[in-house]
Amino acid sequence: MHDLKSPLRITWDVPADPLRADALFKIIMEARPLFIEAFVSHKSVWGFWGIAGELEKLRQTRVTVIAEGETLCDKAILSCDGCWMKNVSLILMPPYEEHGFFLCAASHARELLWGLWSTNVDMEKYFAEALGRAKGFKRGVAVLNPPAPAEPLSRKTIENAAKAWKEMELPENFEARIHDLFLSEALGLNPFEHYHGCAACQTLAHVDEKGNLIACRTAPHVIGNLLDDSLQSPLKSLWRSQKRRDIREMLSQTPKECRECVLADKCGGGCHGLSADGLGRDGGCPGPGFFK
Ligand code: SF4
Repeated sequence: MHDLKSPLRITWDVPADPLRADALFKIIMEARPLFIEAFVSHKSVWGFWGIAGELEKLRQTRVTVIAEGETLCDKAILSCDGCWMKNVSLILMPPYEEHGFFLCAASHARELLWGLWSTNVDMEKYFAEALGRAKGFKRGVAVLNPPAPAEPLSRKTIENAAKAWKEMELPENFEARIHDLFLSEALGLNPFEHYHGCAACQTLAHVDEKGNLIACRTAPHVIGNLLDDSLQSPLKSLWRSQKRRDIREMLSQTPKECRECVLADKCGGGCHGLSADGLGRDGGCPGPGFFK
C-alpha cells in the first residue's frame, strides 16, 4: 500500500485537562484525518468540555465519541448544550444508560451504536444486553479492539456470544462492527469484509491521554509524543519518522507459524496485540486448519 503522509483514522483517549485536550485535538486535526474515535472516560469529562465547541464546526473529519451513558449525562457535557451531538457518531459503552431523556438526545447523533470492548469480561457481561438494546432501538453494536495489555477472547466467551446472537433473532440488516476475526466468524459474519490486515501504523494510529502517538490501542508501540515542542506539525513529523516505518514493518510481517495456513494472505496472523509476545499469531486463532 502507498505510504500515507498521515493516518486516516486516529483513536484517541481524551485527557482530563481541557487545555491539553484542546491542544491535542488541534494537533490531530492539523493532520486532517478522515476519522477520529475519541474515547471519553468519566475522569476526562472536563477534557471533553474543552473540545465540545470544536465538534460543532467539523467539516471533513468524522468524529465518533465513545463513552458510558453516565459520562455523557454529566452536567459538564450536557451544559455544552448538546449541539456537538448532532455532528458526531456515538458509541455508548457499558453500563448502559437507562434515562429516556438521554437516549432522546443521543438519537440525534449522526449514528448511534451500543459498544463494548472485546474483552472476556465485557463480552460475558454486556454483549447480550448490547444486542437487545440495539435491536430495540433499530441500531447496531460495535465490539471495539481492547486497550493494552489485551488478551484474546476465550473459546467459551465466543461460544456464549454466538449463542446470545442466535437467540436474539436479529434482523438481517443488523449492523455489527466486530473487530475480532474469530468472534466475527463464530457469529456467521464475514470476518474479512472490513478487515484487510492490521492497520496499525499503516492507516491507523492511537493517541493516549499524555499525547503519545502509538501504533494502536491494542499494540502499544510508542512512536513519539505529540506535545514535544521541538516538533513542527508533530503528527505529520512523527508519522514520517523512521521509527513509525520500523514499527509498521514489524507489525505487517506474517508470523512464521501462520505461513502454512490457507488464510495467511488474508489475515496476516490476525492481531499481533493479542499474541503472546506482541508479534506472533493472534492468540484467538485455533491454528492453521481451523478455517476451511
Ligand atoms: S494491532 Fe490488532 S487491534 Fe490494532 S489495528 Fe492491528 S489488528 Fe487491529
